[in-house]
Amino acid sequence: MNQRKIGEEKQEQSIKRATDKGGKMEFPVRCFSCGKVIGHLWEKYKKKVNEKESPEKVLNELGLERYCCRRMFISHVELVEDIIPYQRF
Ligand SMILES: [Zn+2]
Repeated sequence: MNQRKIGEEKQEQSIKRATDKGGKMEFPVRCFSCGKVIGHLWEKYKKKVNEKESPEKVLNELGLERYCCRRMFISHVELVEDIIPYQRF
């Protein structure tokens, strides 16, 4: 098996791992600006906002005070499912 094949296989495995977890891997673990760990809060945020709660209220409940952390949630777009078909090059 040549190097390229091995690389492709590794990539396929990592894509599979990402999709097995229901696309949880794409939200940043930490806030880009202050470094606060926020990755574990995304699913809770998404669930509550889908249940028609206001994002403002949910962010307050999660204890996210700084606007740098709040923008991580408000501006996040889940793209992983759309990007997966284009990962081969
Ligand atoms: Zn922050």
